[in-house]
Amino acid sequence: MQDSTRLTLLGRDPEAQQGFVNPPVFRGSTILFPTVEAMERAKAAREITYGRTGTPTSRALADSIAALEGGHGCILTASGKAACNLTLAALLRTGDHLLMVDAVYGPTRHFCDRTLARFGIETTYYDPRIGAGIAALFRPETRLVFMESPGSLTFEVQDVPAIAAAARARGITTAIDATWGTPLFFRPLALGVDISIQAVTKYIGGHSDLLMGAVAATEAVYPRLRAGIEEFGAPPSPEDCWLALRGLRTLAARLARHQESALAIARWLETRPEVSRVLHPALESHPDHALWKRDFTGACGLFGLVLDGYPEAAARAMADALELFGIGASWGGFESLVLVPDPTPVRTAVPWKAEGALLRLHIGLEDPEDLVRDLERGLARLRAAG
Ligand SMILES: *Cc1c(COP(=O)(O)O)cnc(C)c1O
Repeated sequence: MQDSTRLTLLGRDPEAQQGFVNPPVFRGSTILFPTVEAMERAKAAREITYGRTGTPTSRALADSIAALEGGHGCILTASGKAACNLTLAALLRTGDHLLMVDAVYGPTRHFCDRTLARFGIETTYYDPRIGAGIAALFRPETRLVFMESPGSLTFEVQDVPAIAAAARARGITTAIDATWGTPLFFRPLALGVDISIQAVTKYIGGHSDLLMGAVAATEAVYPRLRAGIEEFGAPPSPEDCWLALRGLRTLAARLARHQESALAIARWLETRPEVSRVLHPALESHPDHALWKRDFTGACGLFGLVLDGYPEAAARAMADALELFGIGASWGGFESLVLVPDPTPVRTAVPWKAEGALLRLHIGLEDPEDLVRDLERGLARLRAAG
C-alpha cells in the first residue's frame, strides 16, 4: 500500500468510535478500573493507566508515526527540542562520551554544551561528511552517535548507513534527527539507525499551530528509551495530538506540493547572478546529491542559498523586502518563510566558510510564480543594498 493511502487509514477505528471518522480527543489524568487487580494487570501489560503516559488520542498518533517509521514504537514529547534532548538524557550517564554531528540543530547543540556537560557527559562534534571515518573517533566510553541529515542551516547529507554500521559493529547506539526528510521521504531505521526523531511541529503538524516531537525506535532500544523519556513526565497535550493526527492525513499531498515548488524555485535561484550556491540536496549541483538520491525518496520545502559576495546587511535588506515570505523561526507550515542565519557560532568541527551571506527559505503552499515574483523584488533590494 502506498504511503498516501496509509495516511488516510492509520490511527483510527470508526467502529470503536461510534462510526465517527476521526478518533476523539481524550482529555484526562485519572483512568478508572473496575478492580485493584484489573489496574495491576493493566500496569503489568504496559497499558495506559494514567494520562501522563498516554491517552487513546496520543496512542493513535504515536502508533501511526511508529508504523510510518518502521519502528517498534514511538514516544511523543511536548516539542521537537524535547524529543532530541530527552533522547540524549535517557541514554547517557556521567562519564559517557557522545559523538554529535557539527551541523546539528542549534538548540540541540546548546543542550550538549550546557546541560550534558553539567552532568559530566562529554560531546565531540564531528564533520557531517565523515562517513565510515566516524570509527576513528570511537572511545571505550562512547555510547551514542547522533546524526542530523541534511544538516540544519547548511544541508550537508550524511552517509547514514556507513555511520550506523560502524557504530553497530562497536555496540554503540545511533540516533538521528530526521525532521527534514519526514517519515515519508526518509526511513533511517531501515538504514540501520536505532532511533529516528521528528519535530512533529514541522511537516506533520504542517500548519504552524502546534509544538511536538516524536521518537521512534527499534525493538532493541525502545523499552529503555521509553522508560527514560517517560521519567521526565512531559507529554504533549491531547489537543495537539489530535491536531497532529489531522496534519498527518494530508502530509503526502502537502509534501508533494512543497517539494515541487521548492525544487522549481531552487533551480530558478541557481540561474541568478546574485546567488553563488543553492544548498538543496535534490539539486545535481549539491555536493552530497548522490547520497541524497540513494537514501531519500523526496525532498521537502526547506533549503538554503549562499549569496555571491553580498554581505549579511544586504541579505537582511532582501529578507525585509519580501512580502510573501514571513520572517520567523521554524518551518514545515503552509506558509513561506525566510531567515538570514549565521552558522559560524554553531560550527566547531568544520568552520563555516562562504562567499557571501546565507539565506534559508521555506517554500510554502503559495503559488510558486507568486513566490518567484516576491524573490525578484527581494533580489532588486539586495542589489541596491549590496
Ligand atoms: C525545529 C526543529 C527542532 C525542534 O522542534 P521544536 O518543536 O521547535 O522544538 C528539532 N530539530 C530540527 C531539525 C528542527 O528543525
